[in-house]
Amino acid sequence: MAFACVGLFTNAYGDYFKTVGVYHVDNPTVCIMYPDETTSDIPMLKEQTFSAINEWQTKLVNATGGNWNMTSTEYPWSEHGEATVEDYPECTIFVNYIYGVENESVGRTGFDFSSSVRYYYWIEIDLNTVERKISVSLGENFNESNVEIKTEWFEIPPNDIRNIVLHEFGHGLGLEHYYVTSDCRTEECDYSPIMFGSIDVFEGLEKNVTDKDIKMLIRIYGEDGFGYPTPKWIPRTCDIQCLEVDCGNSRMC
Ligand SMILES: [Zn+2]
Repeated sequence: MAFACVGLFTNAYGDYFKTVGVYHVDNPTVCIMYPDETTSDIPMLKEQTFSAINEWQTKLVNATGGNWNMTSTEYPWSEHGEATVEDYPECTIFVNYIYGVENESVGRTGFDFSSSVRYYYWIEIDLNTVERKISVSLGENFNESNVEIKTEWFEIPPNDIRNIVLHEFGHGLGLEHYYVTSDCRTEECDYSPIMFGSIDVFEGLEKNVTDKDIKMLIRIYGEDGFGYPTPKWIPRTCDIQCLEVDCGNSRMC
C-alpha cells in the first residue's frame, strides 16, 4: 500500500508530480554567486532572486508553520569568479547566472549527492536567450537575393528572470516537474504549477509558486519543514490525489 501513489500514476489518469529523489537533510544554505557587475545588472538580479526565494519560503511557512528557514549568502564576482564548489563547503544550493546557452533551456539545475561528506544543488539562470530569424533579402535578380539565418541574443527581462529562479529553485529544493497528462478536451488542464516543465519568456508573465508545488514539497519533507520526514519516505511520483489527501504517517494515498 505504501506505493499506492505510484500505482495510481501508472493508470495514467490525471496529472502528477515527480521529485528528484534526493533532498535536503538540513535547512538549505543558499549561495548566490553574482556574475560580473560590469556586464550585468546586479541590483536587478538581487531583487528578482530574493523575491523568488522568499516566495517559496513564505508559502511553505504559511502552509505548515514548520521550519522552512533558508539562509542566503551573496558573493560578488570578484570573490568567487575563480573559485570552485570545494571553496564553499557550506553551500547546499548554488545560484549562478550565466550569459546563456544556445539550443538549451533558459535555466538548468544539477545536483551532486555522491559524496558522503557533502551534497549540493547547482542552479544556472540564463541572462540571455537566442531567437533565430530567417532574413531574406531580395535583390534585383536571383543572384543578388540571399537567405540568411541570423542568431540574435536577447536579454531576458526581470520578470522572466524571477520566473526562471522560481522554477529552478523548486528543483534545488528537490522537485522534478509537474506533468500534465489530462485529456485537455474533456478535463481542465492545469499548467499553472511553477514546476511545469516549460516556461514562456518575453510574454510579460508573472508566475507564482502554486498550492500543488507547495504540497509536493510537504510530501517530501513533512509538515515540520526541511530534514527527514517521519517516517523516512522519499516519494518519486505523486498524483493529484496523493497531493490532496493528507496521508499522515502511513503515507498511503
Ligand atoms: Zn525544470
